[in-house]
Amino acid sequence: QNYLANHLRASSVGQSERRFAKKPDGSKVSYQAFFGGAEALAKVLIRKGVKPNDRVAVQVDKSVEVLQLYVATVLAGGVFLPLNTAYTAAEVSYFVEDASPVVFVCGSETLAELEPIAKDLGVLAVETLDGDGSGSLTAAAQTMDIADFEAVARGEDDLAAFLYTSGTTGRSKGAMLTHKNLWSNASTLKDYWSFTQNDVLIHVLPIFHTHGLFVAINTTLAAGSSLIFMPAFNADKIIDALPEATVLMGVPTFYVRLLSHEGLSRDSVKNMRLFVSGSAPLLAETHVKWQEQTGTAILERYGMTETNMNTSNPYGGDRRPGTVGYPLPGVEVKITDPASGEELPNGEVGSIEVRGPNVFKGYWNMPEKTKEELRENGFFITGDLGMIDERGYVSIIGRSKDLIITGGYNVYPKEIELLIDDLEGVVESAVIGLPHADFGEAVTAVIVPESDATLTEAEIKAALAADIAKFKQPKQVFFVDELPRNTMGKVQKNVLRDTYSETPS
Ligand code: ATP
Ligand code: MG
Repeated sequence: QNYLANHLRASSVGQSERRFAKKPDGSKVSYQAFFGGAEALAKVLIRKGVKPNDRVAVQVDKSVEVLQLYVATVLAGGVFLPLNTAYTAAEVSYFVEDASPVVFVCGSETLAELEPIAKDLGVLAVETLDGDGSGSLTAAAQTMDIADFEAVARGEDDLAAFLYTSGTTGRSKGAMLTHKNLWSNASTLKDYWSFTQNDVLIHVLPIFHTHGLFVAINTTLAAGSSLIFMPAFNADKIIDALPEATVLMGVPTFYVRLLSHEGLSRDSVKNMRLFVSGSAPLLAETHVKWQEQTGTAILERYGMTETNMNTSNPYGGDRRPGTVGYPLPGVEVKITDPASGEELPNGEVGSIEVRGPNVFKGYWNMPEKTKEELRENGFFITGDLGMIDERGYVSIIGRSKDLIITGGYNVYPKEIELLIDDLEGVVESAVIGLPHADFGEAVTAVIVPESDATLTEAEIKAALAADIAKFKQPKQVFFVDELPRNTMGKVQKNVLRDTYSETPS
């Protein structure tokens, strides 16, 4: 018995002709073909030397075949490890060394560069898989007879996947996820978001990240729904697909970009029952505009690599802009004092801690870090700050590492950023703390102005003076063309702190 694979397959047993995915070229993949292909790939992996708990690392373009490779790795008893396609050879080398996979899969274009690196690091087999589904792996799979295939037995607590965090606050950490972690979240989301066999999900997210891989794919498989599979975000193609789809999952920038598309209207979304946003904060303004333009409320949820999803706005109830909703069924969320770890009452800002079957087993090769962040009582200290309001809705205030302590007072960057972003001529901003001899840290604003704006430091300071206490006001303001972001599009405040910490204040 293979715990995760059995569960993911259960919804389509006896209905194998049902469609699983429509590929970018318009061809359809049935559930039978999907799982059959996964079994053939699992056989290939086993022949290449994959044994229980071995890692299969992949850095490849999006394709339905990569999804099959994920299921194949699970069926073979292995641990699926997808890597961001934007990583350079040097970065891939770090991850391969850290994770020591048995099989490494890349695109045919990067093979010449990555094969020697992987082989040097002890990888047994280096294979290819391209965005069109071709490559050495699928070629080998075609020669496999799956009539006698049996999945490798794995239980709830065995590892199924191993994902590196996005590296927003520092070096990416490998999060070890078990069969139970993944399945518990998939079955919870399927119920909470009312997924059924009739759902058709527009899939435009990357699949090396928890959102596009687990939230989207595991939930789809759990419900026996189907996918319209797209290689990347393309507003025209999404607008075209809306009439034959029911759900879209995206990051906030998708929604911002769709809002400026003339094809977005009440009429064009009439077949859609759900728009999900996550991975980064959705501005309340985007939520409101979306509601006005389409008549539907975006459902924002909150999760991370280490835990899959923790909270979600309700499917049936009030989806409140600027919040990430309620703890999911089976997931406990509490707000604690960062210094003492004591639970805080509703309405107070503190560390967000979570506990539940979704919480990972620990960081790979980082026992110290695991001990610091995973308490013995099972609560995981997420590294995010937030609060729970009187109705039980959770809001994210920012990252603990980004909290500014100046003259002994706490300053939450988000409060200042929202004020700055509202000023005429400002595109966006990041507020950070820089070392300061008297105050400990000095509040500092980094602002991206509109291209034709002529903003000055004095104007920004004057505009904020009336709205916030003196200790929260920026002591220095910098103007930049753009904010540094990682490959997931998240602002890297550690990079900003490094850049400006040499500047005298
Ligand atoms: P690293 O841990 O390596 O610094 P990361 O935390 O960005 O990177 P991920 O696991 O991809 O890596 O992202 C999880 C984080 O994304 C959460 O901890 C939270 O800060 C943020 N996040 C996710 N969903 C939301 C949301 N709806 N609103 C605000 N922030 C969100
Ligand atoms: Mg993180």
